[in-house]
Amino acid sequence: MSSGLAIETAGLGKRYGRTWALRDCSLAVPAGHVVGLVGANGAGKTTLLSLAVGLARATTGQVRVAGGRPAGSSAALDAVAFVAQEAALYRNLSVADMLRMGRAMNRCWDADRAQNRLKELGIPLAKKVGALSGGQRSQVALTLALAKRPELLVLDEPLAALDPVARHDFMSALMTAVSEDGISVVFSSHVVAELERVCDYVVVVHGGQIQVCGEVEELVAGHHVLTGPAEQADSVTQRFPVVRDRRTAAQAHLLVRTAAAEAALPGWQRHPVGLEELVLAYMREPSASALPGPKPLHGEQAVHE
Ligand code: ATP
Repeated sequence: MSSGLAIETAGLGKRYGRTWALRDCSLAVPAGHVVGLVGANGAGKTTLLSLAVGLARATTGQVRVAGGRPAGSSAALDAVAFVAQEAALYRNLSVADMLRMGRAMNRCWDADRAQNRLKELGIPLAKKVGALSGGQRSQVALTLALAKRPELLVLDEPLAALDPVARHDFMSALMTAVSEDGISVVFSSHVVAELERVCDYVVVVHGGQIQVCGEVEELVAGHHVLTGPAEQADSVTQRFPVVRDRRTAAQAHLLVRTAAAEAALPGWQRHPVGLEELVLAYMREPSASALPGPKPLHGEQAVHE
C-alpha cells in the first residue's frame, strides 16, 4: 500500500437527519493489522465501515482505504472486500451462482481459490444459499470476499449469528487467510473476548466518536491496575489518567494509563491488564480516552487530496 495505511479518515462525519452517527472521526490505521472495531449498540461502527467501503457518503471529511484510495472509487472497490452483517447473500441462488456472480462483478477474481476453499469446507456448490447453515453462509461470504484477493477485508459483525463452534471456525479461517495473504482486516464485533485472540489493533467507538485507538501490544503495555491504600488513591489519580476507579474503605483498585516503569509506586502493587478488561473498562467510562499522538483537528479535511 502506497501510504501504508489500511484506513485513513480526517474529520469524517455522517449525519442522518439530526443524528450524527459519526462525528469528527480522524483515524490512521496502519496496513497489515487485524483491527477489532468495538463499541456499544448505536456507537457508529456500521456507519464507519459503510463509509470506508463506499456504501455511504460522508457528510463531512473524508476517508481513504488500502493505501490512500478514496473510499468508493473504482480503485478502492478493487482493493477492498466487504462482508456485511449476517452475511447478506441471495438465499435463492446456489453457491455456484454466487461464485458466478462474484466473477462477473469483480475485475480481479480467483475462481480456483474460491472453489477449492468451499470444497475443503465441504460446502456443496449446488446447494441453495438459503439451505445452508448460518456458519456455512458466513464461510461462503468469506470465500467470496477472499476470491477478490483484496488488500483490505472489512467485516461488519461477522460473528453475530454464529454459535461458538462456527464462530471459532470462522475466525480460524480468517486468521489463515490473513497469514497466507498478508491482508489488512477490519472487523466490528460485540464479542470482546474474541479480540484478544485475533486482533493486534483495536478501535473503540463511543457516541459516534473514536474513544480508543492503537496497537494492542502498546495499549496493554500502557495500562496497569494499581492496588494500594485507599487514603493515597487521590494522589495516584492526580498523577495518571484514570480509566477505572474502584475503592473500598481500605483499598483502591485503579486502572490507569501509564507505562510499567512509572507505575512502580512504593506501597502499591502493579498488575498487567488484559485487552478484554481494558476495552470493557473504556466502554464503561466513555469520558476516558486513549488516542495516539496529538488530538486530531476537528472538522478539518487534513488528508492530502
Ligand atoms: P450496532 O452495534 O447496534 O450495530 P453500530 O455501532 O453499528 O450499532 P450504527 O449502525 O453505525 O451503530 O448507528 C450509529 C447511529 O446512527 C445510531 O444512533 C443509529 O440509530 C443511527 N443510524 C444509523 N443508520 C441510520 C439510518 N440509515 N438512518 C437514521 N439513523 C441511522
